[in-house]
Amino acid sequence: MLSLAKIVLGAVMLLGFVGPASLAQVPMPSPGLNALPEVEFSRLSQRDPNPLGQKALAIHPEQWKHAETEHFVYHFSDPFTVTPVSVEAEFHYRVVAKALQREQPAGDTKSHIYIFQTATDWKQFQSIGRLEPWTGGIHSQGSLFIQRSPGFTAGGNLLGHEIAHLVMHRYYPDGIPCWLDEGFAQYVSKGARASYLRARNYIAKPQSRAVDEEKLIPLAELMAMTSPPNDRVKTFYDESERLVRFLASSDKASFLTFLDALGRHQPFETALLQNYGTKFLTAAALEEKFREYASKEFGTSLQESGGG
Ligand SMILES: [Zn+2]
Repeated sequence: MLSLAKIVLGAVMLLGFVGPASLAQVPMPSPGLNALPEVEFSRLSQRDPNPLGQKALAIHPEQWKHAETEHFVYHFSDPFTVTPVSVEAEFHYRVVAKALQREQPAGDTKSHIYIFQTATDWKQFQSIGRLEPWTGGIHSQGSLFIQRSPGFTAGGNLLGHEIAHLVMHRYYPDGIPCWLDEGFAQYVSKGARASYLRARNYIAKPQSRAVDEEKLIPLAELMAMTSPPNDRVKTFYDESERLVRFLASSDKASFLTFLDALGRHQPFETALLQNYGTKFLTAAALEEKFREYASKEFGTSLQESGGG
């Protein structure tokens, strides 16, 4: 017999990934049966040391309810909203941990997710946090703040992208370069979406987007950016995703050790030489190969783990 959790997962992932056209055939999860049990704030297993969390809970403090699952603590006002978020969050946690090919980090620290229900509360919160321009969420010091807006329910990899940041933060709490953090979040969440759909007999390949060669940001400039540049947000995300995809598909094992090196704040050139030295002798050699790869339109024939 299928467990309730599996049924909810199926329904939720379909809701998240397929979009409004197919909603009619998808049974809604029944919150009466499957809703996350609410937990009193004082009984939560962990607190969020992030000051932004405290600021969020101070907005209409009477509205907040709380719950937790294996890897996450949720703060929300509507149980109908939090249940599918919790299923997606745990799903993406497993996907990212698998992509990184390692056990979860030592300790049992959970990531906190704050779900705002109304546009006014969200606006008020946005003025104190810095919104990630491309996905519409705020991730800060391992916590995630979202408005459960149509953007998060109507499909795509937005929640997966944000969850990827949370999981990365657990493995690399001291931070990794912005291009790598954003590029990996895009790469892994696009792959998760495609494999979920394929498992349900949809023909789906990760939708990796090519970048026009004349728009490409030189790698030295990309590496130095500490946040996505306002005037080239789309290029920044697409190019960072392509670079992660390029490095991961060139050699997955090298990519993981390269990631660890950048997580230890080694300079890019050093990490590149140590992990990809046999493939790219210099950063310039990498750049030349990458420019070609980044601007190539793969269309629907792109393989998840392969180049083109
Ligand atoms: Zn991001």
